[in-house]
Parts: sequence; structure tokens; C-alpha cells
Amino acid sequence: MADYDLIVIGGGSGGLACAQRAAEYGARVLIAEVGRLGGTCVNVGCVPKKVMWNAAEIAHAVHDAAGYGFDIGAHRHDWLALKRARDAYVARLNDIYERNLEKRKVELARGFARFARADRVEIDGRAASASHIVIATGGRPMLPDVPGAELGITSDGFFDLERRPERVAVVGSGYIAVELAGIFASLGSHVTLAARGERVLKHFDSMLGEAAVEIMRADGIEVATGAWPESARKIKGGLELTLRDGRRIGPVDTILWAIGRSPHVEGLGLDQAGIEPDPYEFVRTDKYQATSVPRIYAIGDVAGRLQLTPVAIAAGRRLSDRLFGGQPDRHLDYHNVATVIFGHPPIGTVGLTESAARDLYGDEVKVYRSAFVPMYHALTARKPRAHMKLVTSGPEQRIVGVHVIGEGADEMMQGFAVAVRMGATKRDFDDTVAIHPTSAEELVTMR
Ligand code: FAD
Ligand code: NDP
Repeated sequence: MADYDLIVIGGGSGGLACAQRAAEYGARVLIAEVGRLGGTCVNVGCVPKKVMWNAAEIAHAVHDAAGYGFDIGAHRHDWLALKRARDAYVARLNDIYERNLEKRKVELARGFARFARADRVEIDGRAASASHIVIATGGRPMLPDVPGAELGITSDGFFDLERRPERVAVVGSGYIAVELAGIFASLGSHVTLAARGERVLKHFDSMLGEAAVEIMRADGIEVATGAWPESARKIKGGLELTLRDGRRIGPVDTILWAIGRSPHVEGLGLDQAGIEPDPYEFVRTDKYQATSVPRIYAIGDVAGRLQLTPVAIAAGRRLSDRLFGGQPDRHLDYHNVATVIFGHPPIGTVGLTESAARDLYGDEVKVYRSAFVPMYHALTARKPRAHMKLVTSGPEQRIVGVHVIGEGADEMMQGFAVAVRMGATKRDFDDTVAIHPTSAEELVTMR
């Protein structure tokens, strides 16, 4: 008999969720974690990022306060005090996660796990076998293959910063580039965002990336487009980033690379288990999270689908429901997953982009758009416009995409995601009485 019913490699969002759900069904579970419990999200991702985003939102509110009659006067922000408070909060979460494992009788093995063979894992020299093994090792930020890349930091290094750099170059155009550029700028850094393309967030509806660039520029962020990094070097007064076309950005105090994340499979011994990762090193799975080797599964970022915490959690829980909870067809549907990019203002989106919908449904697509200055900004000096788009398909005008950039988009999107998932039509939206005065009401009053 195997030592455990389940071994989970990686105690991040997906691994913890999978292990705990399995234990709730009575499975004997071991989870291996080489670093801090909670993984990327809790330690160097969503959680500390949201703390920094909150701080940046407060900075905007302080700026806007004059329009509402406040005389706030001179104010300064203590980055180090914020970092210490944030670190303490994360440490509390680490402890809570450990206690949660104890409560559910999940055994925690601290150390680096590698496959010895398909049903056997070694954790820092200790061997254990299991009936099922889940790979939940997540990913790590990538550095570009350019000279001087090591002079820059990644999102991991962002969370180590003890003071605010005055001048920052952020390289990239996805989630992390937009989020961290916004945080730096709101808290007072001079930021240049270097994006390879003509806009940011190219995997999302084009309206969002275009509006984000417009708003970032209005907030003082320099957005350099067509900016392919060629090298980084030290110069007098700081660091300099050179682009392929010869443009130079610098001197800056910090270069932050935000160019994507690669799966964490180095040293994992996938070959011992008989697993061949894909060309990008992701461990591909079928819809049941099963790899090509029986009884080995992969969930979360390492599996190379949507790299989001709730996705990793949902995949992990559903896998345990299937393996130990008597639900043989339980699996995660990766369609219509809502997501938010925590910019300033935030960006929320669910479903198909307009162009993906047109590729899929052609002339059956009808789009509704709205752009307006939210009421909050009627009295503020800044006037960022909110943009909203509904993408519908077919004669019944089923809502297949909802895209919003604007104040409150982050909290707005969850409910609309339920509606999209349930197959709501434009008529359902129209028949829903608005909540006034809000920005969200625009989504049920578009014509
Ligand atoms: P991880 O959370 O990365 O956990 C993997 C764990 O496995 C790690 O703890 C690692 O130490 C451990 N491990 C790796 N190899 C081994 C081994 N061989 N042996 C033992 N342990 C091992 N997502 C959102 O939904 N919302 C957000 O706002 C958001 N913000 C983010 C901000 C940033 C800056 C970053 C970087 C990511 C953000 N994400 C966000 C993405 C989210 O953090 C990830 O999708 C999520 O953490 C993936 O969970 P996971 O379980 O797959 O991997
Ligand atoms: P993303 O995949 O979002 O974006 C990275 C971007 O970097 C690419 O879109 C690409 O844009 C650009 N890029 C790639 N290689 C280079 C290069 N060599 N030089 C310059 N630019 C390059 O990755 P992130 O690192 O921003 O984030 C990783 C993942 O973490 C995200 O995909 C997301 O799933 C998750 N995350 C989620 C968050 C949330 O939920 N709010 C927040 C942060 C992260 P292009 O091709 O246009 O040049």
C-alpha cells in the first residue's frame, strides 16, 4: 500500500486547495513546500500587490480630495512603514495557512520535492509513495535574454524594495507591467513603461489597452511603444535601458522586468516520472488535470492555462472532488473566467473580446459601447473616462463579453460574470433595473 493517498508538490494557491479538499474527504495527504506557504499569491503576488494597490488608490484619493473641499496640505508617504505592515500581514497569513493544514490533518513536508519514479517522491532525501501525485509548483518571473538583464528586478524584487525609487523603467505590457507601473506612479515615482507593441494588454479587448494607455499618460506615466529591450547597463546616475531602435531610457534607479512567468519545473525530476513538458516547460493536462502519466496531475500556473489564483484553487478542489469525493466528472471549465487588472482605475473583463467574438460568430456580433467621466470625477481635477463594452452574439443577443475600465470595475465584474455564465441576453440586462448613481448602471442601460 502506498504511504499516502495523495502527495501534492507545492503549497501555493492550487496545492493547498487540492490538499485540504482531499483531506476533508478523509484522504491521507502529504504536501511538500520548499518556500513560504501560500505560494506566489500570498507572498509575492495578489496579496501584497493588492495592499500596494490600495495605497496607490489612497494616494489618488488624497490628490482628488481638494475637489471635495479638503485642504490636506503637504503630505508624504512612508514606503518602508507600508512594507513592514504588509510583510507582517503576509506573515500572519503564512501562519494561518499552516494552522489550516494542521486542522485538516494534512502533513506538511518542508523541502524541495522531486520525483524518484511515477508514484514516488523525494523531499530533501525523505522518500514517500502515493496513489495520486499532484504537481502544483507554480511559476517564476522571467528575465529577458539581453545583456545586463540581471541589473533589473522582477515582481519578486518589487516586494523587497524598502524605499520608493524616484525613477523607474517598467518593461512589459501585461498584467504586472500595468499594475506595478500604476503603483509606482501613484506613489510618486517617475515611470516609463516600455511596451513592445503599440498598446498594452494585447490579450484583452483592444478598448481596454487603448484606454489604459490614455489614462496612464494623463497620470504622468511615459508609455514608450514599439520598445523592444536590447540591453541594460549602469551609467552615471543610475541604470539605462537601451531599445532595439537605439532609444535610451534612463538614467533610472530601477528597471523592472514584467515580461511573463515560466513554469517552476527545474529539478522536479519530470523525466523520472515519465512526463514530458511542452516546449515552454508547462506540464500539459487534459480537462481533468491529468498528465500523460496515469495518477499524476498538474494544476495552477505550472499547467499553463489561466495563471490566476482562483483558477488554481478551483482546479485543485475539483480534482480532489473527482479523486476522493465520488464526483467522477468534476472538472474546471476554463471559459468565461472573469479577471481584473488592478490598474488605476481598475480593468475588469469576462468572456470574449470583440475581435475573438467576430472571428467566432462573424456578422452575428453586435457591440454596445459607452465612455463617460464617472460622477466621482465631476469634482476632481483628474478626468479619467470610464469605458465599457458589451459584446453580444446571435439574434437573441447573448452577452458573450463584458469589458470595463473605470472606477469600481474590480468589484463590478464578479456579478456580471455570473450573468454571462448563465447565458444572459441583452434583454436580460435591459430588463434589470439600474442602481443609481453608479458607474455599473451603464451596463444595464446601454443602447
Ligand atoms: P504558486 O502559488 O506559485 O505556488 C507554487 C508553490 O510551489 C510555491 O510556494 C513554490 O515554493 C512551491 N514549489 C515549487 N517547486 C517546488 C518543489 N519542487 N518542491 C516543493 N515546493 C515547490 N492572480 C490573481 O488571481 N489575482 C491577482 O491579483 C494576482 N496578482 C498577481 C500579482 C503578481 C505580482 C504575480 C506574480 C502573480 C499574481 N497573480 C494573481 C497570479 C497568482 O499569484 C498565481 O496564478 C497563483 O499563485 C498560482 O498558484 P499555483 O498554486 O499554481 O502556484
Ligand atoms: P503577461 O503574460 O500578462 O504579460 C507579459 C507581457 O510581456 C507579454 O504580454 C508580452 O507582451 C511582454 N513581453 C514578453 N516578452 C517580452 C520581452 N522579451 N521584452 C518585452 N516585453 C515582453 O505576464 P506578467 O508577467 O504581466 O504576469 C504573469 C501572469 O501572472 C499573468 O499572465 C497573469 O495570469 C498573472 N497575474 C495576474 C494578475 C491579476 O489577476 N490581477 C496580476 C499579475 C499577474 P507583448 O507581446 O505585447 O510585447
